[in-house]
Amino acid sequence: MRILVVDDERSIRVGCQEILTKAGHQTDMAEDGFQGQSFIRGDHYDMVLLDLKMPGPSGLELLEEIRRIDPETVTIIITGYATIETAVEAIKKGAYDYIPKPFTPDALRRVVDRGLERRRLALEAAQLRQERERSLLEVAQERSQTRTIIQCMADGVLVANRQGQLVLFNPAALSMLRLQATPQIGASLEEGIQNERISRLLLSMLKERHAPQSFLSEEISLPGEFPATFMVNVAAAMAGEEEPIGAIAVLRDITKLKELERIKSDFVTMVAHELKAPLAAISGYVDVILGSLGEDIEQERKMLERCQERAYSLLALIKDLLDISSLESSSATSKREPLQLRPVIQDIADFLKGMAAENEIQVQLSIAEDLPLISAGRREMERLLTNLLNNAIKYNVRGGKVYLDARRQDGFIRIEVRDTGIGISPEALPHIFDEFYRVKNDCTRLIAGTGLGLAIVKKIVNSYFGQIEVKSEEGKGSTFSILLPAIGGSL
Ligand code: ADP
Repeated sequence: MRILVVDDERSIRVGCQEILTKAGHQTDMAEDGFQGQSFIRGDHYDMVLLDLKMPGPSGLELLEEIRRIDPETVTIIITGYATIETAVEAIKKGAYDYIPKPFTPDALRRVVDRGLERRRLALEAAQLRQERERSLLEVAQERSQTRTIIQCMADGVLVANRQGQLVLFNPAALSMLRLQATPQIGASLEEGIQNERISRLLLSMLKERHAPQSFLSEEISLPGEFPATFMVNVAAAMAGEEEPIGAIAVLRDITKLKELERIKSDFVTMVAHELKAPLAAISGYVDVILGSLGEDIEQERKMLERCQERAYSLLALIKDLLDISSLESSSATSKREPLQLRPVIQDIADFLKGMAAENEIQVQLSIAEDLPLISAGRREMERLLTNLLNNAIKYNVRGGKVYLDARRQDGFIRIEVRDTGIGISPEALPHIFDEFYRVKNDCTRLIAGTGLGLAIVKKIVNSYFGQIEVKSEEGKGSTFSILLPAIGGSL
C-alpha cells in the first residue's frame, strides 16, 4: 500500500518510515504543509498520516484536499495532546482516526493496520459497486436489444402474462392481425388482439396442463379484400416454475406458401387432365380393335393411326413438361457460353421448312451482320426460337408469311417473329403465356399443341433477364418481340 507521512518533526518521520517500510508499505515523507500538498497532488495514496500543526498549509486544509481528490483515502491525524480537540474536529471532517504523540511502534502499526483494512474494504466495495453498475447496464442493454429484435422480426409476436393480459407485441403482429389501433399493454387478450382463435390458444396454454415444451399450432385464415393465412405457434413461458408465467404466440405469414401449394396442386390437376384425354382415346381405340380384331383391317389401320397421333401428342406434352420442370430447377440450367445466333436461327428455319411448305408458307429471315454474341445455352435458344417459329407457321393461313428479324438494340439482341396468320383476340392475349392455355375456336380446333410452348418461351426469357412482348390482331397476324442481353452489354 502507498502511505504518505506529513509531519514537521524529523524523529516522527524517521520512525514512521522505518516501521511502515518494514511492514512492506511504500512510503513518502513530507516535512511541511507545502511538501505534503505537492505529494498529494502528484500521487495517489491509500493512506496519509497527517500532522495538524506545521509550517505551510495546515493539516485540516490538507485533509480537505485529500478528501476532494479521493474520499476513500484513509487519513490518520498525528496529534499532540494540545491539539486533541482539533483532532476530533478533523475526524468530523472525514479523517479516519488519530494517533496521539508520542506513540509506540505497536500503536502506530495497530492504527495503520486498522486504517488500511478500512481502505481495502472501501476499495472492494467500490469495485463491487462498479461491477453491479456494469451488470445493470448490461441487463438494460440486453433488454433493449431483445426488444429491438422483437420489434424488427418479420414474424408476429404476442405475449400474454399469467392473468391472460397482453404484455408484449410487435408491429408485425399488429399488421398481420390488421389492428387499426395499438392495443393497451395489460388489456385482456380478447380486447387487445381481437382474434378469438389466437386468444383461445394463448389462454389454453396458460390454463390447461400441456406436456413440457409442447406447442399449440393452428392455421388461421383472415378473409377480406386481401385474404391471408398464418401459422400460429403458441408456447408456454415456464421460468423454472410449475405453472407457466405467460404464453407466447408467434405468427408466421404463410399466405404465399399456401398460394404456391394451390398453384402446384392446380398444375398437377391440369397435367393429369391433359394426360388423361389422349390416354383414354388410345385405350378406347385399342379396346375397339381388340373386340373385333381382324374384321375390318382398313378401319383398324385408321384407329391405329389415331392412336399413334395421340401417342405423339402425349410424348410432346411429356417433353414440354420435362422442359418446364428443368427450367424451374436452377441446377438444371444449361451451360451458358458465347453463342452466335445466326447459325442457330438458320438451322431451325431449315428444319421447319417442310412444315411451312406443306401450307405454302414463306419464311423470311433477316439477321443483322453485326449481331452480337449472346451468353446462352444452345438448347435453350433452340427451344425458344423453335416454339416461336413453329407457332408462327402453325397458327398461319395457307400462303401466309413468317418474318424473323434479329438485330442489335443497345446492349441487347432483339428478335422479332412476325406472322400474317390468324392472330389472337384481345381477350385471349393476356393468357397465352399461361401453362396449358390454348385458344379454342374454329381456326385452332384442328391445330395440335400442348399449351406449354409459350410458357416455356417466357420462362427461358425470364431466366436470361430478358423481355418478351406480343402484339396481335385477329385475322391479321401476330408479332412476338424478345430482348435478350448481348455479350458486351450496352455497346
Ligand atoms: P400450343 O401448344 O397450343 O401452341 P403455346 O403455349 O405455344 O401452346 O401457345 C398458346 C396459345 O397461344 C396457342 O394455343 C394459340 O392459340 C396462341 N398462339 C401462340 N402463338 C400464336 C401465333 N403466332 N398466332 C396466333 N395464335 C398464337
